[in-house]
Amino acid sequence: MRIARIVGICQNPRMNETRVIQTADDDSKEAVREAAAVLRSGDIAALPTETVYGLAADAFDADAVAKVFAAKERPSFDPLIVHIATRGDLARVAVVPDAIAATVNQLTSAFWPGPLTLVLPRHPDIPDIVTSGLPTIAVRQSAHPVMRAVIRELGRPVAAPSANRFGRISPTSASAVLKELGGRIPLVIDAGACREGLESTIVSIEPREGKKPVLRLHRAGPVTKEMLQPFGKVEKPKADPGSAPQTPGQLPGHYAPSTPLVLMESARDFHPEPGKRYGLLSYRGDGPWVDLHHWDRIETLSPGSGKLAEAAVRLFHCMRTLDEAGLDTIVAEPVSETGLGVAIMDRLRRASTGAPDDHRD
Ligand code: AMP
Ligand code: MG
Repeated sequence: MRIARIVGICQNPRMNETRVIQTADDDSKEAVREAAAVLRSGDIAALPTETVYGLAADAFDADAVAKVFAAKERPSFDPLIVHIATRGDLARVAVVPDAIAATVNQLTSAFWPGPLTLVLPRHPDIPDIVTSGLPTIAVRQSAHPVMRAVIRELGRPVAAPSANRFGRISPTSASAVLKELGGRIPLVIDAGACREGLESTIVSIEPREGKKPVLRLHRAGPVTKEMLQPFGKVEKPKADPGSAPQTPGQLPGHYAPSTPLVLMESARDFHPEPGKRYGLLSYRGDGPWVDLHHWDRIETLSPGSGKLAEAAVRLFHCMRTLDEAGLDTIVAEPVSETGLGVAIMDRLRRASTGAPDDHRD
């Protein structure tokens, strides 16, 4: 029985075909074999993870990894996340210093497989292009059964940043991947919508004599500050003036739609211009923000009872839908900055094109 189906071909006249193979998490053998074959041949493929879709290449093949940078138009200074299939594979990509070994063990026991990326000293076999020449590597074990099965079948870790063009909204479905990269990549494995919807939390570990370590939070994500606190003192990354940002994905203007998006901290800041089309990115789909204006379009982050977890899953999908609605401006309502709300507000701030005043003149 064929368990994977080619459900579509996306063809751009100036580019190549992108095959889409649809699969189920628990019945994915053929899709996994196809994806591993593409990666083994030195090419790249978009694969599902529990956070967002990733664009994968064999992490030990510098030429294949270069194709990821080219397809994404990603600058070479922005290093990739490497995915492993088992915790045992960590030693193939990173060298864990004794001083943080216990903490690495605790964090990986608690959160792997799952949406926590650790920044660790890199293994010498990892090509420079993967880490943008940094002495460290970002690594995680994805919880997605298809991603893990592809890595196992390939027998090598994969480098896989989000499967979008640089700076744009991360894809949480195969159709979003096609909009971003259709015609630029040979294969997308479609396993449905991503369960988390936000990129992984990124953490580095600094040991302290006789105390719990400092956990530097490079990117807020599904593993929240509150979840990390039992394992160390959670702090922001050190400011390093004059050098490239440690986490380029954290630059303002990341995760941005093409339509200007304004995150309004207060409804009093909204001063619509006559004749312009405004859309609202609403949290619950009711309340003062909805009543504030005759919106041309409203997308609701948490229409059900999932609250922040549901909002996280739907955030990039709703941003993309509003981006495609022909609006002049997207107005985003703030969510409470606790738990997952920290990561949601982080993405909204980075997607935001400026203070409300910028849009009044
Ligand atoms: P993406 O998967 O596209 O969201 O990008 C991966 C993220 O991981 C980017 O924000 C990278 O800057 C970050 N990253 C990768 N390697 C490192 C590293 N060695 N140190 C800090 N951040 C990293
Ligand atoms: Mg990204």
